[in-house]
Amino acid sequence: MRTPYFLIEESKIVRNLEILADVKRRTGCKILLAQKAYSAFFTYPLIAGYLDGTAASGLYEARLGKTAFGKETHVFSPAYNDEEWDELMLYADHVIFNSPTQARKFLPRAKAAGKQVGLRLNPECSTQEGHGIYDPCGKYSRLGTTKANLDAETADMLDGVHMHTLCEQDSDALEITVAALEEKFGDVLKKVKWINLGGGHHITREGYDIERLVRTVKGLSDRYGAQVYLEPGEAVVLNAGQLVCRVEDITDNGMKIAILDASAACHMPDVIEMPYRPPLQGSGLPDEKKYTYRLGGPTCLAGDVIGDYSFDRPLRVGDILRFDDMALYTMVKTNTFNGMRLPSICLEHSDGSVETVKEFCYEDFAGRLG
Ligand SMILES: *Cc1c(COP(=O)(O)O)cnc(C)c1O
Repeated sequence: MRTPYFLIEESKIVRNLEILADVKRRTGCKILLAQKAYSAFFTYPLIAGYLDGTAASGLYEARLGKTAFGKETHVFSPAYNDEEWDELMLYADHVIFNSPTQARKFLPRAKAAGKQVGLRLNPECSTQEGHGIYDPCGKYSRLGTTKANLDAETADMLDGVHMHTLCEQDSDALEITVAALEEKFGDVLKKVKWINLGGGHHITREGYDIERLVRTVKGLSDRYGAQVYLEPGEAVVLNAGQLVCRVEDITDNGMKIAILDASAACHMPDVIEMPYRPPLQGSGLPDEKKYTYRLGGPTCLAGDVIGDYSFDRPLRVGDILRFDDMALYTMVKTNTFNGMRLPSICLEHSDGSVETVKEFCYEDFAGRLG
């Protein structure tokens, strides 16, 4: 198999889906796949066997969700537009608005098309530190309607409400945020049919407090007689994929440096954007094992560095390295900066057989540019 390639592991997805199915069974909630994190649609039939539909951020994700997954298609966008609206109505069944002005413009049209309509609320309750760009409750956030901005006329038209405030968090943060939501918007919650608690729930991570999640979700749905939705992305495919790559060269400039055929900037941009250090099979922290290397990509960007890792034996040109947890926020974010070839996409079936689903070529680079 030619490197670099993503290897999606079906058995790991099934493991996650079984945990999510159990949460559904115990709470009566519905769970949607947030396609922003993962859109490898050839696995949608598998996921659709467990979950209730998809969450989309706009026209293309809604179309993919409706056509490849089926079931329910929910869409939230910070701003809809006239050019895309009619086509969007072909795919979406639940339409969520970001502001009362967007609702005034599009909600009557959505209702006339027989859609469920909702408003994204901002409970103004930050529960995350560090990753400011992932906090929709931060200062001057453009996401969600605050209590001060919600008028009674808009509130009266809603079938449901939505919030999304978490990122890789445990259920204690959800519990705190749900309390804030009830305190600020309790009168609205009493009137709606559904409450969507967004994503960012790290449900399938080892040690996640599922009991507290079940209590929080069930409590909310019992108090208001509403259908609760969760729309995790990460949790569906957590630890369910690898990026397999090869060592192309080894140099030394004050420390050992290995050049890989996989790029942080192009193939795992969250490593730079978030930033974070991806797990690598058989490696340790710098100096934890005997031989430490800085691992970098093949682009001309000086900062195309994945991180510093140590190994029990020296790396050699041609060695294969496997980064873990590479199903989420990777394939949806890759780019061809610097003319880099995109990693192939492979699927490891539960029986261990591996299928190459997609290989990329020059046209995937040039075709986007003219
Ligand atoms: C990103 C996002 C999600 C999924 O978040 P994860 O952290 O991947 O679980 C769900 N809903 C909305 C509105 C989002 O923007």
